[in-house]
Amino acid sequence: METGALVVKDGWSRSLRRLGTMLLDQLYPPVCLACDAPVATADALCTTCFRGLRPITAPLCPILGLPFEVSLGPDAVSAEAIAHPPNFDRARSAVVYNAMARGLVGKLKYGDRPELARFCARLVALAGHELWGRDAVLVPVPLHRVRQFSRRYNQSTELARALGKLTGLSVEPGLVVRKRNTRHQVGLSGDARRRNVAGAFAAHPDLLLRLRGRRVIVVDDVITTGSTVSAVTKALKSGGAEHVDVVSFARVVTGSDA
Ligand SMILES: [Zn+2]
Repeated sequence: METGALVVKDGWSRSLRRLGTMLLDQLYPPVCLACDAPVATADALCTTCFRGLRPITAPLCPILGLPFEVSLGPDAVSAEAIAHPPNFDRARSAVVYNAMARGLVGKLKYGDRPELARFCARLVALAGHELWGRDAVLVPVPLHRVRQFSRRYNQSTELARALGKLTGLSVEPGLVVRKRNTRHQVGLSGDARRRNVAGAFAAHPDLLLRLRGRRVIVVDDVITTGSTVSAVTKALKSGGAEHVDVVSFARVVTGSDA
């Protein structure tokens, strides 16, 4: 009796939710996240804007996640990864940081549009499919508390939360903190970027101890030279984390149409 009543109630609330979505779609038809053209489903791009994205797909460097122009065999590592081995274990990004990706990231960052995080996370979930083991936790690149206060939310945390829902992994936004409010990296050279973020991050010692043996996956919106994710990795590894991977929505790829 009790269970039957629950099933009916559940059925009702599902129908009501569906009805609610239909009414909302009538009132506010879903539009493209980039250009506001009508689209069939919410949190999506229209076909034209979607074609503007350049997904990063295999063949790619198993360490840096950078695309190869031709397949060099399953174990081939990029020259960059050999010349400058990163301190993180693996990096994966969904798309090349071109004009379309820059527009989306800009809206995600400054436009108070967290629904963009759901769209970006869907692409990151595909790009990082090799990384989603049950032992892993997601850690967003933190903003300094002053900047987070003025911007109201951290785009990397929104991205990590949406990714957590898709992958079933837990999100630990407090595992890494930004100790210094670093200046914007835009316009800085590779060396200046490294200096700017050196020592800016610290891992929470108690939380890190509790997560001992778990793989950490750092989540960022864009990887440019990798100096920020490397500084976060350094904080995690010097705190005792053994395995740190990195994912981002977009990635600067030299020689691409960015
Ligand atoms: Zn569009």
